[in-house]
Amino acid sequence: MLSYFNNSNEQALGTAGSMSQIITGKTKLLGVIGHPIEHSLSPIMHNAAIAHLGLDYVYLPLPVHPDNLQAAISGFAAIDLGGFNITIPHKQAIKPLIAEISPTAKAIGAINTVWRTSSGTWAGTNTDVEGFIAPLHYNQDWSQKTAVVLGNGGAARAVVAGCAQLGFGETYVVGRNATKLAEFIASWDSLATKLLVRTWDKLPLLIPQAQVIINTTPIGMYPNVTQSPLSDEEMALLRADAIAYDLIYTPRPTKFLQQAKARGATAIDGLEMLVQQGAAALTIWLQQPVPVDIMRQSLQNHLSKYK
Ligand code: NAP
Repeated sequence: MLSYFNNSNEQALGTAGSMSQIITGKTKLLGVIGHPIEHSLSPIMHNAAIAHLGLDYVYLPLPVHPDNLQAAISGFAAIDLGGFNITIPHKQAIKPLIAEISPTAKAIGAINTVWRTSSGTWAGTNTDVEGFIAPLHYNQDWSQKTAVVLGNGGAARAVVAGCAQLGFGETYVVGRNATKLAEFIASWDSLATKLLVRTWDKLPLLIPQAQVIINTTPIGMYPNVTQSPLSDEEMALLRADAIAYDLIYTPRPTKFLQQAKARGATAIDGLEMLVQQGAAALTIWLQQPVPVDIMRQSLQNHLSKYK
């Protein structure tokens, strides 16, 4: 919990039992831009980590209407904002305003983390890939394995880049719109995985081949908690030694993961991706190790109400 510096009383006024932090004239600024921004969980985990480290930073929600994006970014430079995250709807629109874009963000076509370079310009990357691959084992050989990605939206792009980084032999992207699928596959230059796209009706052929199946659609997200992208009949085709990975983190677990667990599969929910993409961003800004456990715990506490 944050509290405000008071000349007559320099006492932190945070909620009882939570971390407190005093904002001073020297406090450095970080934040997240989006429209809307009210639902962002990033301030919770970043401020928990900052408080734990005892650093003089604060991470703020920064509401930026799409019409004001350019003005906002210029303003951030003017007030010496140290860095910021980007969420819907600015992840793609911000690209022309960022001087240096990492190869990962270029490949995905979206930026979620920005920082100031030593020359005072903005640099950007996308930490969703790091977030996605963190719960999967880096040192495992995925080269003979098949990933099946449900959905072809923004998150699917980070997942495909992650599957390529892990070295999956094949990555199938499954969508409901053939035109969007064609655009999706055409948008990649070269990838270290064989990328294939299929329409939803081909799922019964693909599910048995999947060692990892990833839900990147919002199907099953709170409040639609009884929905799943797969029917029980389709889930029955999943190998018992497969991994089912749902990017959704409300609820935990989703119906999709409950079905997968009933098959004997390993279930991974979206919380770790959320935590790890945030930890990767905070590491860039602070240039020091960050307390991932504290970030995870702060979100678990917050999300427990969605059970
Ligand atoms: P998005 O860009 O809107 O993409 C959603 C995708 O799901 C689209 O391909 C869409 O298909 C498909 N879809 C939606 N409803 C569908 C349905 N009923 N049947 C079949 N396909 C359907 O959204 P996003 O940004 O990728 O986010 C997707 C999910 O990932 C959200 O639940 C989000 O919370 C989660 N997420 C989690 C993390 C994390 O850190 N854990 C990070 C990013 C996103 P069309 O293209 O045909 O419309």
